[in-house]
Amino acid sequence: MSVKVLPGEVAAKIAAGEVIERPSSVLKELIENSLDAGASRVSVSAEKAGKALIRVNDDGAGMSPEDLRLSVMRHSTSKIAAFEDLDALSTYGFRGEALFSALAVSRLKITTCRAGDDAASFIEGGSGEIKAEGKAPPARGTTVEVRDLFFNVPARLKFLRSDPSERAQLIRVVEEAALANPGVSFSLEVDGAEVFSLKADKGPWESACLARARELLGGKVAAGLTALEQNAGELSLRALFSLPDSLYATRQNQFFFVNRRPVSSKTLQQALYRGYDIMRGSKHPACAVYLDLPPAEVDVNIHPRKADVKFRAEGAIFKFVSGAVNARLLKTQRASAAIDSGAAPAGQAAFPPAAASPEVRAVFGTGKPPAGAAGPEPVTDALFAAEPAPGESGPSWYQPPVNYLGQLSKSYLVFESGGGLLVVDQHAAQERVLFEKYMDELVLGKIRVQPLVIPVSVELSASQAENIMRWQDWLKGAGFEIGRSGPTHMLLHATPALFYFSQDAAQELFGYLSEVLGEPSKSDEALKRNTIATMACKRSVKARDFLKPQEAQRLIEDLKAAKDSFHCPHGRPTLFHIGRPELARRFQRTTVV
Ligand code: ADP
Ligand code: MG
Repeated sequence: MSVKVLPGEVAAKIAAGEVIERPSSVLKELIENSLDAGASRVSVSAEKAGKALIRVNDDGAGMSPEDLRLSVMRHSTSKIAAFEDLDALSTYGFRGEALFSALAVSRLKITTCRAGDDAASFIEGGSGEIKAEGKAPPARGTTVEVRDLFFNVPARLKFLRSDPSERAQLIRVVEEAALANPGVSFSLEVDGAEVFSLKADKGPWESACLARARELLGGKVAAGLTALEQNAGELSLRALFSLPDSLYATRQNQFFFVNRRPVSSKTLQQALYRGYDIMRGSKHPACAVYLDLPPAEVDVNIHPRKADVKFRAEGAIFKFVSGAVNARLLKTQRASAAIDSGAAPAGQAAFPPAAASPEVRAVFGTGKPPAGAAGPEPVTDALFAAEPAPGESGPSWYQPPVNYLGQLSKSYLVFESGGGLLVVDQHAAQERVLFEKYMDELVLGKIRVQPLVIPVSVELSASQAENIMRWQDWLKGAGFEIGRSGPTHMLLHATPALFYFSQDAAQELFGYLSEVLGEPSKSDEALKRNTIATMACKRSVKARDFLKPQEAQRLIEDLKAAKDSFHCPHGRPTLFHIGRPELARRFQRTTVV
């Protein structure tokens, strides 16, 4: 085979693939260009999840007709002139590749006009060539239209996801830009319908960012946020993040920005979790974290789409962020409540020197909550009865007569069983029983559904809502009928009859669903059923409920019939049994009575 230089068009298509992977990556570049041009308003519209059209219109500086033609040439940029300029970068763009790539893989039209120009200019083209140019009526700013993305790269087209999935990503890109730039107004329209329209707020960052968070994430999430601002020399940290009593089952509401750029930085994320060291469990804060530092201190050039960044002083930044978050949490009233409820003494928690606390490992080690996260480690103790042998007789802990004696702390049910002591964690047991009943119904395809007289309304981010709507049919099969009453409002119309959801529980369930259902690793049908059953059971039963004696007796009979009566669906123990011989031993009796 001989070595050949690739024709320009082929090389351009290959290069474009690095910058433009999907509709959301084009949109990100176009919005960043508008922001770099000093826009105070950015209006986005998309059709067919951006596959048919992405249009970004801004009121920024615009371009001269000459610059317009140059803007689609490779490595043409007005933003840097030399490699060293990267160290003083204050713009989003710098590679001069976005418009060049868009022209290579779509039908592109750019219309632009500077203040004072008597006409706007446009160029139009596709497959790497400008095919037409001309004049249009003047209107300051720039409109970029990207149509039929990848029409000439069928291989790429095949890799795009379903419309709802691509749409969710498009929306997320606008959400990120809007959270990072509260001083700019943003609007988004999808298939002709408005998703949101956000007014610019040029006031202090805290109130401006909070207002954005309220509009994008919903009032409930925003109300659970606290704010902090801390500076150290040229390092500046501003952050909104959840109070310890307002955590979520997923990480979807986490936004990190470095020098206004949305990033997924493990360093920042881990630092945030470390800041919550006082807490246990596998819950996740919502956050908008803004870190600003000299451009020379951060390398944004390690990723083609600039999605991750590298800090020169990784360790120091980690400490700075986690320390600031930790100090802020310790100061809040609600944080002290969390300490009182017994996770760890405040003094120790403030800043242990170890590099990765068990909490951080727990959160980052696995994608889903560790088993037993809601309570103590599952205890394996000699006191626990052995696993039952399958058979007619039921589990070993069930030795008739089984009599209900009473309830402790509104959480534990105490029974006499076989002359010994049987203690049941009411919540865990209810979860187990519900779980098995629901799984039976699911497997048989005979879900009993309970329509809600008043639908429960849940507020989510628009991208989360999109994610969930993709699963509307599947959820219906699982007994959950959902709908929408707006881009960020979902309605729960019906649930499986076995469950009861409070407003809060429904909110949590939806948040979790939006993350879990979309994960390819959960695409296995059985796994998906298991996941939804586990989640639903957890959220539909409450601890500290008073049970009547008949209800307690009923529960123990149901538990006896369960396939695994020893564990809740998360793996936490449901009960322990101290048999008669053990009681005798403890009281040093020589004969068992
Ligand atoms: P980069 O942003 O890396 O410079 P792009 O290909 O995204 O590269 O854009 C090339 C150039 O086109 C920019 O440097 C800028 O001068 C100009 N440009 C692009 N979009 C706009 C816009 N919305 N308003 C004004 N100028 C723009
Ligand atoms: Mg750019």
